[in-house]
Amino acid sequence: MALTIITDDCTSCDACPSVCPNEAISVVDSKYIIDPAKCTECVGAHDEPQCVTVCPPDCIIPDPNCKETPEQLMEKYHKLHG
Ligand code: SF4
Ligand code: SF4
Repeated sequence: MALTIITDDCTSCDACPSVCPNEAISVVDSKYIIDPAKCTECVGAHDEPQCVTVCPPDCIIPDPNCKETPEQLMEKYHKLHG
């Protein structure tokens, strides 16, 4: 499953966008959001989700409705990066 939920605990510290290898995190109407079409849980680039490791309040959580296998995440990564 992709990490697509940033909860209201977000403090807008701005630590996460720059560590995302897929440029999946953006700010819309002052809220930080993750584009599920771009998040691979960092599969293809890193051993663990980088946004989660840098988030002080631990407010980035998996979307239970978004079920993708590691193989699908890797395929998405390769499509994003050509
Ligand atoms: S888990 Fe990785 S790919 Fe997904 S939003 Fe976080 S940093 Fe980006
Ligand atoms: S690292 Fe966490 S608290 Fe900081 S902007 Fe990203 S989601 Fe919000």
